[in-house]
Amino acid sequence: MERTKIVLKSGKDQSARRFHPWIFSGAIKKMYGNALEGDLVDVYDNKDELLGTGHYSPGSIAVRIITFDGEEIDETFWKSRFQNAYALRQNIGLVNNKETNLYRLIHAEGDNMPGLIIDVYGKTAVIQCHSIGMWENRMLFANILKEIYGDDLNAVYDKSAESLPKKNTTGAVSSYLLGSDSDPVAMEYGLKFHVDWLHGQKTGFFIDQRENRSLLEFYSKERNVLNMFCYTGGFSFYAMRGGAKVVHSVDSSARAIDITNQNVEFNFPDDPRHEAYAVDAFKFMDDIKDKYDLIVLDPPAFAKHRNVLSNAVQGYKRLNVKALHNIKKGGILFTYSCSQVVSADLFRKTVFTAAAISRRKVRILHQMTQPADHPINIYHPESEYLKGLVLMVD
Ligand code: SAH
Repeated sequence: MERTKIVLKSGKDQSARRFHPWIFSGAIKKMYGNALEGDLVDVYDNKDELLGTGHYSPGSIAVRIITFDGEEIDETFWKSRFQNAYALRQNIGLVNNKETNLYRLIHAEGDNMPGLIIDVYGKTAVIQCHSIGMWENRMLFANILKEIYGDDLNAVYDKSAESLPKKNTTGAVSSYLLGSDSDPVAMEYGLKFHVDWLHGQKTGFFIDQRENRSLLEFYSKERNVLNMFCYTGGFSFYAMRGGAKVVHSVDSSARAIDITNQNVEFNFPDDPRHEAYAVDAFKFMDDIKDKYDLIVLDPPAFAKHRNVLSNAVQGYKRLNVKALHNIKKGGILFTYSCSQVVSADLFRKTVFTAAAISRRKVRILHQMTQPADHPINIYHPESEYLKGLVLMVD
């Protein structure tokens, strides 16, 4: 079957010429062919020049461009993209690392594979596809992973049922593509974490906070630490290793709190410094005046879409006001946003407003982002989604 040709409206080719991989449906002048969701399509400007080839989907992002270079998209192509992603993780020291065996291998647009996320947890790789085009290749991807890792890989789990576009008709069910029996305990900077890829959030763990967690260790000595939105405890264990006096972990998910408690036992058996609470963050923070001198705020993405941006900004503001108002003098606040649509600038302005409302003296010590295994495609600013500020609050 002939590949569908998509022609863009005049003037709507600029972003693709600057290698931005998303073609929005509004930029399309005409489609020649009957592409189904997930099919490869060729994108042309209105003078019939080929701009790129990518996966079609009927939503607002109509095409995710995979190559701008006219390459054939076959097994050799995918192998080479995977090898390239793997080589980057080797270069940054994450492959065969004795202290850290969990990392992101494929970061979608950041690795020139829009719609595809692959995280590695010890000997298990977890795939989450965000487009049908990627999902249709899942078995090929699993085999490429096995070829790259050999005996260092026991299992590949496809967790795409929850990440694929909601309206898809594939009936996708998450399942193992290779193996099934793999150790769920993985390590980050020498700390052990139970990673629940079957039932946990996203691929099972928030790898993107690795360097931020590590920075927190440095600031934890002798502090009373509150880790809000702790999930499976990440920041808490760095605080404990860093010499915190007390560490309290809070998450609204009871299951996350259970795993947090399990992880405490892995890393710091019978350590009385840690307590975990399954409660709502906003409620918990009503009653913490001057109790803590190090607070972490790492909420889920409050804005998943641009149309709820202003609500999200209000959410971040409210949360930061509570923390800034209540933190002890000389306290340190680690505050984050992982919403793709909240830019670093907007996040900083929001925290600025919260600081002004709380009337505290606030200095920025660090401006944080995502680690190198979550690379940012320079042509796709949206791949920079994690923003953080470390603040000194007097
Ligand atoms: N900091 C974590 C990741 C946080 S993910 C880490 O380093 O691994 C965001 C977490 O916020 C999720 O675990 C989710 O269950 C929790 N959450 C969402 N809404 C919440 C609320 N209102 N109160 C408390 N926790 C909430």
